[in-house]
Amino acid sequence: MDCIFCKIVAGEIPSKKVYEDDTVLAFYDIEPKAPVHILVIPKMHIAGCHAITPENSAVVAHVFEVIAQIAAEQGVKDYRVVTNNGADAGQTVHHLHFHILGGRVLGEMG
Ligand code: 5GP
Ligand code: ZN
Repeated sequence: MDCIFCKIVAGEIPSKKVYEDDTVLAFYDIEPKAPVHILVIPKMHIAGCHAITPENSAVVAHVFEVIAQIAAEQGVKDYRVVTNNGADAGQTVHHLHFHILGGRVLGEMG
């Protein structure tokens, strides 16, 4: 499958890893929009929020446990978690991912 994040999971594209376990990977965004900008993804290919089902949603719960852990480790108390679903919402990589943004005062959502 021609998916950048599947290639990152497979190690075919390098990334600066923050956290990894059997089902979840986190790495620094290549174009950071805040002092802390980390992407947390399920290792399995899920195209986006619209593709979350009862069969795969457990990994999403785990993603959020990992997000809380990473934010604590990064020392950000206040942070934003963003996921864009679909091109009109700004999704450019069609593998479910959650942005952790922090380390500065974040403005209102656009
Ligand atoms: P989206 O726009 O789909 O919500 O977010 C995709 C994010 O992936 C963007 O913030 C972009 O900078 C990041 N990104 C795209 N390609 C790569 C890559 O090869 N490596 C890393 N680390 N981040 C990437
Ligand atoms: Zn993928």
